[in-house]
Amino acid sequence: MHERPPPPPGAVWLVGTGPGDPELLTLRAARLIQDADIALYDNLVSAGVLALLPAHAERLYVGKRRNKHALEQDDINQRMVDLARQGRRVLRLKGGDPFVFGRGGEELEYLAAAGVAFHVVPGITAALGVCAGAGIPLTHRRLAQSCTFVTGHLQDGSMDLDWPMLARERQTVVVYMGLLGLPLLCARLIAHGRDPGTPVAIVQQGTLPRQRVLTGTLATLPGIVAGADVHGPTLIIVGEVVALAATLGTAEAQGAPAQPPRV
Ligand code: SAH
Repeated sequence: MHERPPPPPGAVWLVGTGPGDPELLTLRAARLIQDADIALYDNLVSAGVLALLPAHAERLYVGKRRNKHALEQDDINQRMVDLARQGRRVLRLKGGDPFVFGRGGEELEYLAAAGVAFHVVPGITAALGVCAGAGIPLTHRRLAQSCTFVTGHLQDGSMDLDWPMLARERQTVVVYMGLLGLPLLCARLIAHGRDPGTPVAIVQQGTLPRQRVLTGTLATLPGIVAGADVHGPTLIIVGEVVALAATLGTAEAQGAPAQPPRV
Protein backbone atom coordinates (compact mmCIF):
# COMPACT_ATOMS: atom_id res chain seq x y z
CA MET A 1 0.00 0.00 0.00
CA HIS A 2 1.30 3.43 -0.95
CA GLU A 3 1.33 6.17 1.62
CA ARG A 4 0.21 9.55 0.41
CA PRO A 5 3.18 11.91 0.07
CA PRO A 6 3.09 14.72 2.60
CA PRO A 7 1.91 18.07 1.16
CA PRO A 8 4.78 20.30 0.05
CA PRO A 9 5.76 22.61 2.87
CA GLY A 10 4.39 26.10 2.38
CA ALA A 11 6.34 29.22 3.19
CA VAL A 12 6.16 32.99 2.93
CA TRP A 13 8.65 35.18 1.03
CA LEU A 14 8.58 38.74 2.34
CA VAL A 15 9.93 40.70 -0.61
CA GLY A 16 10.84 44.38 -0.87
CA THR A 17 9.91 45.73 -4.29
CA GLY A 18 11.73 49.06 -4.11
CA PRO A 19 10.29 52.53 -4.65
CA GLY A 20 8.39 51.79 -7.86
CA ASP A 21 10.63 51.54 -10.92
CA PRO A 22 10.75 47.78 -11.63
CA GLU A 23 14.38 48.09 -12.72
CA LEU A 24 15.24 48.75 -9.08
CA LEU A 25 14.14 45.27 -8.00
CA THR A 26 16.89 42.95 -6.81
CA LEU A 27 17.54 39.96 -9.08
CA ARG A 28 16.19 37.71 -6.35
CA ALA A 29 12.96 39.69 -6.04
CA ALA A 30 12.50 39.70 -9.83
CA ARG A 31 13.01 35.94 -10.02
CA LEU A 32 10.56 35.24 -7.19
CA ILE A 33 7.96 37.55 -8.75
CA GLN A 34 8.30 35.91 -12.16
CA ASP A 35 7.86 32.45 -10.57
CA ALA A 36 5.01 33.45 -8.25
CA ASP A 37 1.98 31.32 -7.57
CA ILE A 38 0.18 33.74 -5.24
CA ALA A 39 1.09 37.32 -4.32
CA LEU A 40 -0.27 39.58 -1.57
CA TYR A 41 0.56 43.22 -2.20
CA ASP A 42 0.08 46.74 -0.85
CA ASN A 43 -0.76 49.96 -2.66
CA LEU A 44 2.92 50.98 -2.78
CA VAL A 45 3.81 48.04 -5.03
CA SER A 46 3.87 49.66 -8.46
CA ALA A 47 1.94 48.60 -11.54
CA GLY A 48 5.27 48.00 -13.31
CA VAL A 49 6.29 45.47 -10.66
CA LEU A 50 2.90 43.73 -10.66
CA ALA A 51 3.13 43.42 -14.45
CA LEU A 52 6.04 40.99 -13.93
CA LEU A 53 3.77 38.46 -12.18
CA PRO A 54 2.90 35.50 -14.41
CA ALA A 55 -0.61 35.60 -15.86
CA HIS A 56 -1.69 32.57 -13.81
CA ALA A 57 -0.52 34.00 -10.47
CA GLU A 58 -3.25 34.78 -7.98
CA ARG A 59 -3.16 38.44 -6.85
CA LEU A 60 -4.54 39.57 -3.51
CA TYR A 61 -4.66 43.28 -2.79
CA VAL A 62 -4.26 43.81 0.95
CA GLY A 63 -3.36 47.50 0.80
CA LYS A 64 -3.71 49.97 3.56
CA ARG A 65 -4.26 53.66 3.08
CA ARG A 66 -4.72 56.18 5.85
CA ASN A 67 -7.76 54.97 7.82
CA LYS A 68 -8.97 52.91 4.87
CA HIS A 69 -7.74 49.38 5.20
CA ALA A 70 -8.62 46.80 2.57
CA LEU A 71 -7.74 44.21 5.22
CA GLU A 72 -6.74 44.67 8.83
CA GLN A 73 -3.19 43.68 9.74
CA ASP A 74 -4.30 40.60 11.69
CA ASP A 75 -6.36 39.39 8.73
CA ILE A 76 -3.36 39.77 6.44
CA ASN A 77 -1.18 37.84 8.88
CA GLN A 78 -3.74 35.07 9.28
CA ARG A 79 -4.30 34.86 5.52
CA MET A 80 -0.57 34.24 5.00
CA VAL A 81 -0.53 31.56 7.70
CA ASP A 82 -3.59 29.79 6.22
CA LEU A 83 -2.14 29.81 2.70
CA ALA A 84 1.26 28.56 3.83
CA ARG A 85 -0.39 25.77 5.83
CA GLN A 86 -2.15 24.69 2.65
CA GLY A 87 1.31 24.21 1.17
CA ARG A 88 1.23 27.43 -0.89
CA ARG A 89 4.40 29.42 -1.61
CA VAL A 90 3.20 32.87 -0.66
CA LEU A 91 4.84 35.99 -2.01
CA ARG A 92 4.27 38.97 0.28
CA LEU A 93 5.22 42.08 -1.69
CA LYS A 94 6.00 45.34 0.09
CA GLY A 95 7.03 48.70 -1.34
CA GLY A 96 10.62 49.72 -0.64
CA ASP A 97 12.28 47.52 1.97
CA PRO A 98 10.07 45.34 4.19
CA PHE A 99 11.98 46.28 7.33
CA VAL A 100 11.83 50.06 6.88
CA PHE A 101 8.45 51.44 8.06
CA GLY A 102 6.84 48.41 6.47
CA ARG A 103 5.60 46.31 9.39
CA GLY A 104 7.73 43.48 8.02
CA GLY A 105 8.96 42.68 11.50
CA GLU A 106 5.42 42.40 12.84
CA GLU A 107 4.36 40.09 10.03
CA LEU A 108 7.33 37.82 10.61
CA GLU A 109 6.65 37.69 14.36
CA TYR A 110 3.18 36.42 13.55
CA LEU A 111 4.50 33.81 11.10
CA ALA A 112 7.17 32.69 13.56
CA ALA A 113 4.59 32.28 16.33
CA ALA A 114 2.47 30.17 13.96
CA GLY A 115 5.45 28.01 12.99
CA VAL A 116 5.35 29.05 9.32
CA ALA A 117 8.66 29.15 7.42
CA PHE A 118 9.65 32.50 5.92
CA HIS A 119 12.36 34.23 3.91
CA VAL A 120 13.14 37.94 3.59
CA VAL A 121 14.34 39.70 0.45
CA PRO A 122 15.51 43.29 0.95
CA GLY A 123 14.45 46.11 -1.32
CA ILE A 124 15.66 49.61 -2.08
CA THR A 125 13.97 51.78 0.50
CA ALA A 126 12.26 54.96 -0.72
CA ALA A 127 14.96 57.22 0.75
CA LEU A 128 17.67 55.57 -1.34
CA GLY A 129 15.73 55.28 -4.58
CA VAL A 130 14.16 58.71 -4.40
CA CYS A 131 17.36 60.53 -3.49
CA ALA A 132 19.34 58.81 -6.25
CA GLY A 133 16.68 59.89 -8.73
CA ALA A 134 16.53 63.44 -7.44
CA GLY A 135 20.29 64.00 -7.21
CA ILE A 136 20.40 64.31 -3.41
CA PRO A 137 23.35 62.51 -1.76
CA LEU A 138 22.18 61.48 1.71
CA THR A 139 25.60 62.05 3.24
CA HIS A 140 28.36 64.34 2.05
CA ARG A 141 31.73 65.02 3.66
CA ARG A 142 31.16 68.77 3.76
CA LEU A 143 27.41 68.92 4.34
CA ALA A 144 26.04 65.91 6.24
CA GLN A 145 27.82 63.45 8.52
CA SER A 146 24.71 61.44 9.27
CA CYS A 147 21.32 60.65 7.96
CA THR A 148 18.19 59.76 9.90
CA PHE A 149 14.99 58.17 8.64
CA VAL A 150 11.86 59.09 10.61
CA THR A 151 8.13 58.69 10.19
CA GLY A 152 6.15 61.92 9.99
CA HIS A 153 2.85 60.15 10.49
CA LEU A 154 0.58 62.40 12.56
CA GLN A 155 -0.95 60.93 15.68
CA ASP A 156 -3.70 63.07 17.19
CA GLY A 157 -2.33 65.99 15.17
CA SER A 158 1.21 65.75 16.52
CA MET A 159 4.53 64.05 15.79
CA ASP A 160 6.45 62.36 18.53
CA LEU A 161 10.04 62.94 17.36
CA ASP A 162 13.34 63.82 19.00
CA TRP A 163 13.31 67.47 17.82
CA PRO A 164 16.56 68.67 19.45
CA MET A 165 18.42 65.80 17.77
CA LEU A 166 16.78 66.36 14.36
CA ALA A 167 17.36 70.12 14.48
CA ARG A 168 21.14 69.79 14.59
CA GLU A 169 23.01 71.03 11.54
CA ARG A 170 25.08 68.97 9.10
CA GLN A 171 22.76 66.00 8.99
CA THR A 172 20.07 64.84 6.59
CA VAL A 173 16.60 63.97 7.85
CA VAL A 174 14.38 61.87 5.60
CA VAL A 175 10.72 61.86 6.52
CA TYR A 176 8.44 59.04 5.40
CA MET A 177 4.66 59.56 5.48
CA GLY A 178 5.14 63.25 6.20
CA LEU A 179 2.93 65.11 3.69
CA LEU A 180 0.10 66.03 6.07
CA GLY A 181 2.54 66.89 8.82
CA LEU A 182 4.87 69.02 6.67
CA PRO A 183 3.91 72.43 8.19
CA LEU A 184 4.32 71.04 11.71
CA LEU A 185 7.62 69.36 10.84
CA CYS A 186 9.13 72.56 9.46
CA ALA A 187 7.84 74.67 12.35
CA ARG A 188 9.23 72.29 14.98
CA LEU A 189 12.65 72.08 13.35
CA ILE A 190 12.86 75.88 13.21
CA ALA A 191 11.61 76.18 16.80
CA HIS A 192 14.39 73.83 17.92
CA GLY A 193 17.06 75.87 16.20
CA ARG A 194 17.47 74.59 12.65
CA ASP A 195 18.11 77.46 10.23
CA PRO A 196 14.83 78.48 8.50
CA GLY A 197 16.86 78.69 5.28
CA THR A 198 17.74 74.96 5.40
CA PRO A 199 16.92 73.43 2.00
CA VAL A 200 14.01 70.95 1.91
CA ALA A 201 12.66 68.83 -0.92
CA ILE A 202 9.46 66.89 -1.26
CA VAL A 203 9.43 64.16 -3.88
CA GLN A 204 6.13 62.72 -5.07
CA GLN A 205 6.06 59.25 -6.68
CA GLY A 206 9.84 59.07 -6.79
CA THR A 207 11.42 56.86 -9.50
CA LEU A 208 8.06 56.58 -11.30
CA PRO A 209 7.16 58.25 -14.60
CA ARG A 210 5.08 60.86 -12.75
CA GLN A 211 7.81 61.81 -10.30
CA ARG A 212 7.59 65.42 -9.07
CA VAL A 213 10.21 67.25 -7.05
CA LEU A 214 9.43 70.49 -5.22
CA THR A 215 12.18 72.31 -3.37
CA GLY A 216 12.24 75.20 -0.93
CA THR A 217 13.40 75.84 2.60
CA LEU A 218 12.04 75.05 6.04
CA ALA A 219 10.45 78.50 5.92
CA THR A 220 9.00 78.33 2.39
CA LEU A 221 8.22 74.72 1.45
CA PRO A 222 4.91 74.35 3.36
CA GLY A 223 3.49 77.32 1.42
CA ILE A 224 4.80 75.99 -1.90
CA VAL A 225 3.25 72.57 -1.25
CA ALA A 226 -0.09 74.02 -0.11
CA GLY A 227 -0.66 75.47 -3.57
CA ALA A 228 0.72 72.59 -5.62
CA ASP A 229 -1.85 69.75 -5.40
CA VAL A 230 0.68 67.29 -4.01
CA HIS A 231 -0.45 63.79 -3.11
CA GLY A 232 1.24 60.63 -1.86
CA PRO A 233 3.42 58.79 -1.76
CA THR A 234 5.81 61.58 -0.93
CA LEU A 235 9.16 61.69 0.77
CA ILE A 236 10.55 64.79 2.49
CA ILE A 237 14.28 65.40 2.66
CA VAL A 238 15.67 68.08 4.98
CA GLY A 239 19.27 69.22 4.95
CA GLU A 240 22.02 71.14 3.21
CA VAL A 241 22.53 68.26 0.73
CA VAL A 242 19.16 69.08 -0.85
CA ALA A 243 20.75 72.14 -2.48
CA LEU A 244 22.89 69.76 -4.58
CA ALA A 245 19.78 68.63 -6.51
CA ALA A 246 20.16 71.84 -8.51
CA THR A 247 23.39 70.51 -10.04
CA LEU A 248 23.15 66.73 -9.55
CA GLY A 249 19.44 66.17 -10.23
CA THR A 250 17.65 65.37 -13.44
CA ALA A 251 16.33 68.34 -15.40
CA GLU A 252 12.98 67.77 -13.74
CA ALA A 253 14.49 67.75 -10.26
CA GLN A 254 16.07 71.07 -11.16
CA GLY A 255 12.64 72.56 -11.86
CA ALA A 256 11.83 71.62 -15.48
CA PRO A 257 8.49 69.91 -16.27
CA ALA A 258 8.34 66.18 -15.42
CA GLN A 259 9.74 63.72 -17.97
CA PRO A 260 9.61 59.94 -17.74
CA PRO A 261 12.94 58.73 -16.31
CA ARG A 262 15.48 57.58 -18.90
CA VAL A 263 16.63 53.99 -18.79
N1 SAH B 1 8.83 50.11 3.30
C1 SAH B 1 8.77 51.32 2.51
C2 SAH B 1 8.13 52.48 3.27
C3 SAH B 1 6.69 52.26 3.65
S1 SAH B 1 5.98 53.67 4.44
C4 SAH B 1 10.19 51.70 2.06
O1 SAH B 1 11.16 51.10 2.52
O2 SAH B 1 10.33 52.58 1.21
C5 SAH B 1 5.26 54.50 3.07
C6 SAH B 1 6.00 55.78 2.77
O3 SAH B 1 7.17 55.52 2.01
C7 SAH B 1 5.22 56.77 1.93
O4 SAH B 1 4.28 57.49 2.70
C8 SAH B 1 6.33 57.65 1.43
O5 SAH B 1 6.77 58.53 2.45
C9 SAH B 1 7.45 56.65 1.19
N2 SAH B 1 7.53 56.21 -0.21
C10 SAH B 1 7.49 54.96 -0.67
N3 SAH B 1 7.65 54.90 -2.01
C11 SAH B 1 7.82 56.19 -2.40
C12 SAH B 1 8.03 56.81 -3.68
N4 SAH B 1 8.10 56.10 -4.80
N5 SAH B 1 8.14 58.16 -3.72
C13 SAH B 1 8.08 58.89 -2.59
N6 SAH B 1 7.88 58.36 -1.37
C14 SAH B 1 7.74 57.04 -1.28
